[in-house]
Amino acid sequence: MRNALGLLLASVVSAAVIAGVWFWTSSPHAELSSAPATVKAAQAERLPASAKSADDVDVTAAISGKPAAPSPAMAVAAQPAGAPCANPDALGVSRVVEVDTTGGPGFGFEHFKQLDFLADKEVVLTFDDGPWPGNTPAVLKALADQCTKAVFFPIGKHATYHPEILKQVLAAGHTVGSHTWSHANLNGKKITGQQAKDEIEKGFSAVKMALGTAPAPFFRFPELQHGPASVTYLGSRNVAIFSCDLDSFDYKRNNTPEKEIQTVMGGLDKLGKGIILMHDFQKHTATALPELLRRLKAGGYKIVQMKPKGTLETLAEYDDMVLKDGKVPVTSARPVTSVVQTVSQ
Ligand SMILES: [Zn+2]
Repeated sequence: MRNALGLLLASVVSAAVIAGVWFWTSSPHAELSSAPATVKAAQAERLPASAKSADDVDVTAAISGKPAAPSPAMAVAAQPAGAPCANPDALGVSRVVEVDTTGGPGFGFEHFKQLDFLADKEVVLTFDDGPWPGNTPAVLKALADQCTKAVFFPIGKHATYHPEILKQVLAAGHTVGSHTWSHANLNGKKITGQQAKDEIEKGFSAVKMALGTAPAPFFRFPELQHGPASVTYLGSRNVAIFSCDLDSFDYKRNNTPEKEIQTVMGGLDKLGKGIILMHDFQKHTATALPELLRRLKAGGYKIVQMKPKGTLETLAEYDDMVLKDGKVPVTSARPVTSVVQTVSQ
């Protein structure tokens, strides 16, 4: 009787395993397997859970740090940058500008008024605080559907949590700069020059580690808090500083996707052009973006993509620091199935 019960249990377990395997391979997750090789490689390089530190930044504290399962949108968004546009009515990119970042030029009329390079109706899309599961892939999909490009300013810590998502941002042809290591206010009363430097440099090193290549020398201060010493430092590192012309205020608690679209379109009606600040970290932006891009197209706005002339050379000591924070050295990028295989059951 005990044996019979055991046999029955074993059958139930086997059936459950088979059903699980079937569900996985036949569900949308399986679309990842047909994604470009870059996506698959990125999945294998995900940092261990130990990379998440207890002293997390405010923006991440309220949200589970557990990486979400890959979504079909991630595979779509990771189409090669040079792929032809399938949407004949796409917003597209009207022109690409190359920025010589020597001396740390500033952009965005909220703080920097010297470099007025946008013509009437021209818009630059920028996204801060990612990469983040769900929201960043949704933003990438909306941009890909409209065959348009943006500048991303990821948080260093988030880049270490979700390097595979940040790799997709780059693979889709967007420009990737940095937004500090932990979203610290670099204009705070208590922050020292050394701490500000650490935030800037460690942020860039984390982005570099996640991307596997050097980031753009493009930087945005958290909360647009431009610490004077940090501005000078970034100038010495030849990093361009991005403020904005138009804030979407997508991070405000009482915001909705509809309000966000109204804020951006209303602001553009007044300004006629500008660098728009949004957050790929924010759900509202992920939801609002498809409609916002359609409205931009209908309103006759044109997208300008900003690219750097060169890349940022990160500092070795900060690269080491980011690696050590990951606790486990990255010695192998092989997927688990190529390392551990069941040979007998
Ligand atoms: Zn931010």
